[in-house]
Amino acid sequence: MRSFVKRIVTENLVSNYYTMKKYAPRAIVVPVVKADAYGHSTRLVVDALLSEGVDFFAVAFSCEALQLRKDYPQIRILMMGIPEKEDIRLLVQEKIDLAVSDWLTFKHIITVGKELKCYPRIHIKVDTGINRLGFRYDSCQQIVEFCQNISDVELVGIMSHFACSDEPSHPLNRVQIARFWKCIEIFKQAGISFMYQHICNSGGVLNFPEAHYSMVRIGICLYGYSPNINKAISQLKPVMEIEGKLSFVKSVKEGETVSYGATWRVPEDGYIAVIPIGYGDGYYRLLSNGHGKVIVNGKLYSISGRICMDQFMIFARDNIFSTGDRVQILGANGKHRVSANDIARVVGSIPYETLCQFLPRLPTVKA
Ligand SMILES: *Cc1c(COP(=O)(O)O)cnc(C)c1O
Repeated sequence: MRSFVKRIVTENLVSNYYTMKKYAPRAIVVPVVKADAYGHSTRLVVDALLSEGVDFFAVAFSCEALQLRKDYPQIRILMMGIPEKEDIRLLVQEKIDLAVSDWLTFKHIITVGKELKCYPRIHIKVDTGINRLGFRYDSCQQIVEFCQNISDVELVGIMSHFACSDEPSHPLNRVQIARFWKCIEIFKQAGISFMYQHICNSGGVLNFPEAHYSMVRIGICLYGYSPNINKAISQLKPVMEIEGKLSFVKSVKEGETVSYGATWRVPEDGYIAVIPIGYGDGYYRLLSNGHGKVIVNGKLYSISGRICMDQFMIFARDNIFSTGDRVQILGANGKHRVSANDIARVVGSIPYETLCQFLPRLPTVKA
């Protein structure tokens, strides 16, 4: 068995779920489990939250929705992305809630629903300013008119998505909230109301309580990170830990070099330890040569030399390493912590990406 694993601390996940519920006490909290639950394993995440009574989850793609349905026949699933035309029949059959962003998809869903003699569950998706998916906010009147003339679908939701909810002072937030409210009003005046009205992602939940409505869609906060890398939220606990064991230790002499390209020079006689994880596991090569830090036996070490596909090295002057010593790539020990934010800062990214980057070669286990 490989010593290195991604450990999913489901206890922290559940704690984060309740923390977010406290932020949005009147809304249904729908966990977003796209991209294999931001790299945390959809199965582990859904299992843990099901035990807490959560029964509504959101994903991006058809394949994610259908896989989730296969594994969990009983839950509610919202697919937020655009379905391929050939997938729509199966999605409707499998009772997936569909976010609808365009007329073609809308009409096709209605046709399929009639053929199957069932009522597809629709969430009207309105673009209020991100300019990504959704009907334009200023086309609401046409959607209302269309909706008034159909009877073969269940209009369960109206939704939108923030572009800058992690920056509460950005003026676009207010604009989006106002546009979304207006859309809901236009529907209301035509006698159409929705069970689920939702615009908030994690940032929206934290920063715009007035926009929670009846449902919120939470991703990053569930996994223990703030959507804003510079604004930590102390109650959230990271869910992903990556750890393993030192695989090899040897002595090195002053002036020798370590790893490919001979880019790191040994400063004095000492020891290197080999850590068996590399960019072939999704561990960024940009962390090479002191950019990345790891925790070994509770102490922080800089990476010496280049990260290889399967391994990299650290150095100590004293003979303190032993094969089998505990290494943490992501996690905490005593006063030291390496977080997805630390990695994100080095590589110029966001925790969303650093959590998603690890590859299936690195086994995932429940803590
Ligand atoms: C990914 C996604 C979310 C979750 O966003 P977080 O910032 O991770 O909370 C919510 N809504 C939509 C439409 C998304 O694509």
